[in-house]
Amino acid sequence: MLGAKVSIKYTKLFINNEFVDSVSGKKFASINPVDETVVAEVAEARMADIDKAVAAAKKAFARGSEWRSLQPAQRSALLNKLADLVERHVQEIASIMTLENGKPFAHAVGETQMAADTFRYYAGWCDKIQGQTIPTDDGSLVMTRKEPVGVAGQITPWNFPVLLYAIKLGPALAAGCPVVLKPAEQTPLCNLYLAALTKEAGFPPGVVNVVPGFGPTAGAALAEHPDVAKISFTGSVEVGKLIMKASGNSNLKRVTLELGGKSPLVIFDDVNVDKAAKIAHEAIFANSGQVCIAASRTYVHSKIYNEFVEKSRELALKRKVGDPFDAATEQGPQVEKDIFDRVVTYIEIGKKEGASLVTGGERIGNKGYFIQPTIFANVTDDMTIAKDEIFGPVQSILKFDTLEEVIERANKTTYGLAAGVLTNDITKAVKFAQAIESGSVWVNHYAATTLQAPFGGYKQSGIGRELGPEALDNYLETKTISIKL
Ligand code: ADP
Ligand code: MG
Repeated sequence: MLGAKVSIKYTKLFINNEFVDSVSGKKFASINPVDETVVAEVAEARMADIDKAVAAAKKAFARGSEWRSLQPAQRSALLNKLADLVERHVQEIASIMTLENGKPFAHAVGETQMAADTFRYYAGWCDKIQGQTIPTDDGSLVMTRKEPVGVAGQITPWNFPVLLYAIKLGPALAAGCPVVLKPAEQTPLCNLYLAALTKEAGFPPGVVNVVPGFGPTAGAALAEHPDVAKISFTGSVEVGKLIMKASGNSNLKRVTLELGGKSPLVIFDDVNVDKAAKIAHEAIFANSGQVCIAASRTYVHSKIYNEFVEKSRELALKRKVGDPFDAATEQGPQVEKDIFDRVVTYIEIGKKEGASLVTGGERIGNKGYFIQPTIFANVTDDMTIAKDEIFGPVQSILKFDTLEEVIERANKTTYGLAAGVLTNDITKAVKFAQAIESGSVWVNHYAATTLQAPFGGYKQSGIGRELGPEALDNYLETKTISIKL
């Protein structure tokens, strides 16, 4: 398959439409989680490089600059061109992503296609960003204008590195904001490849800057930078809180956060148990469990509980874990050693706290970060594995009896990103969907995010919404103009 042969062309920082070495000359390795080999050495951005990138973006945003002078239809054309280029290079992008991240190649292809779709979707918004005219009591003519907020800093994680690149860049560029994006240190290369395509698409210098590096150095420098007007972050709650603090300590950047989750999927006793078990299986095991909306609390009605656990066990045993470039593979490795270790630790905690290990629980092989699809039954709400985000292939199956009870229990979490309910009873489904404290709820399916609809979290799962038209608001200021007549 192509992936094994792809050559890595872009390993430097992308600033002002050029690939450049870091100021310090330092590099770091992007590691293949399948065999722990180095995919490539990458230039490492630190504060001095972030300064350079922000200066380039600031210049691109100056009044009268090439970028500021583009008409909406021209911005739209650039984004459409970028979408075309991403589509043309799907195989290369997906291959690099699989090398760095370990996700099955077919999934990487799907993700890359969705990134192209995202650019195209936001291309369509460029000339539809409108203000209002507002009737007033004093007879003056009042109107509003939506204006780009300024330089946008964007920090992304490694689990969907290509899709998130598009979800961040798309609305920012549609709104007219230049961007400095710091990709996760685990997946810099697929992002640098995308950066090269923005240049090819014809974006003026400084509009898109991609600066790989580590969180506490490069990420923090971006979050604290006084010339960055807006910061958009996807990652852990812990770092999300640091980003907010950095914003407060510097220049009160506008902050959008998309953080973790501990999402419940509630399954009533009127469902087809086979189908429900399959939905729940994919809802937790997709992307090796490394998904912010992973349904990591499976609540199953007591009447079908034992049957459901047995079907889930069969599915987990059948799940094909292995080489992500093998077409039959459903699950690759965890992305890196730290993350792998954390999952293994949680599995040990689950055992110690008295959950019943139904299947899995072990490492696979002794090279690469593969973990068996793992299921715990008889999990109770107070157990650590029912409370913490594990971010791995670990399903916790809990038992419930009534709608009221399960709503209460499902909401008893500091997170609020997503939820699901499987039932043929429309009343139960709607009551659950209305009562659950989460940004997304799926009824009779799960994890079906669409580009056209807002996505984000309640409570500590985040602030603001991405995707859909709401994402544009993250990059726009509203100006009220009042004219005395
Ligand atoms: P994970 O632990 O799953 O890797 P993180 O929230 O730590 O998730 O990382 C998500 C992104 O945030 C990455 O790009 C990472 O480099 C960045 N990051 C980590 N720490 C900080 C920080 N202190 N300031 C800014 N960005 C950070
Ligand atoms: Mg971290």
